[in-house]
Amino acid sequence: MKKAFITGITGQDGSYLAELLLEKGYKVYGFVRRVALEDEQHRMGRILHLLKNIELIPGTMESYPSIYRAVSSVKPDEVYHLAAQSFVSYSFEDEFSTLQPNISGVHYVLSALTEIVPKAKFYFAASSEMFGKVHQVPQNERTSFHPRSVYGISKVAGFDLTRNYREAYGLFACSGILYNHESQRRGFEYVTRKITSHVALIKLGLAKKLELGNLDAKRDWGHSKDYVRAMWLMLQKDKPDDYVICTGKAHSVRQFCEKAFSCVGLNYEDYVVINEKFFRPAEVDILLGDYSKAKKELGWEPTILFDELVSEMVDYDLQLLSKKGRNK
Ligand code: GDP
Repeated sequence: MKKAFITGITGQDGSYLAELLLEKGYKVYGFVRRVALEDEQHRMGRILHLLKNIELIPGTMESYPSIYRAVSSVKPDEVYHLAAQSFVSYSFEDEFSTLQPNISGVHYVLSALTEIVPKAKFYFAASSEMFGKVHQVPQNERTSFHPRSVYGISKVAGFDLTRNYREAYGLFACSGILYNHESQRRGFEYVTRKITSHVALIKLGLAKKLELGNLDAKRDWGHSKDYVRAMWLMLQKDKPDDYVICTGKAHSVRQFCEKAFSCVGLNYEDYVVINEKFFRPAEVDILLGDYSKAKKELGWEPTILFDELVSEMVDYDLQLLSKKGRNK
């Protein structure tokens, strides 16, 4: 039985990836903070249904000995490094708690693998935020980086570390340059979930308005379920490489609002209010990717596109709130 080790298993992607790997017959290990084990209901909401089938290893990404011990005890065949402080806005509020932990996390895992299981395959969750102030549209694997946030800078460093461990030590190390990917399991701080959860609140008469920042930013939004499949496919190749994973279609935050409100028969213009507080010191105006390489080499294509993604999220948030209402 193949063993997979996932950091960030409690997050959106970690939870979908764990489901996929269990379906494929893997033994799945997740690296989690001790506090998460002590507060399952809150911190492990996305993986509660999997707890019987996976093994959790307590530790912290901030300690090399902790990661070393975990890797030594599991001796994984495949490692998916998803753990990171991944919300761009927080990285402006506190640069230091994003940059250092994000970079050293990748570095510790790469170093531990090279020491303990040099034949293990490694996946790093890189990000389209590395393109930042984009040098071309659409972006592909050859487009140069110009990150616009400490989060983006930390991902460029992780991407370079991953490539360097591949070139210098022969590690099977890949980066997925993933564009924004969402789902009903997305955190509420991201714009997509903020919008869909407010659409539900407004529809049920529990809120009157939705405050947002820049409505003109454009993102290439896909579904997390499709994107975790790409992660797995990268590690099934004979040779490690880096891949752009996206849908090839961009929409603005405004279009997201328009679609989400229209799902419940409302007009976003009646509810969305601009608040300067949600603008960023440096904005990424447009992210639009080209996934031709992933299609050609991995046989990967997105199956869930914008309209379906938005309506899935709105429907889920409506159900969630209605259920909460009934349980009061
Ligand atoms: P990001 O692309 O990783 O930063 O994902 P987000 O979902 O946090 O933000 C996507 C885009 O939505 C960015 O360009 C934000 O500036 C824009 N945006 C506009 N209003 C908001 C808001 O209220 N919250 C968030 N998170 N983003 C907003």
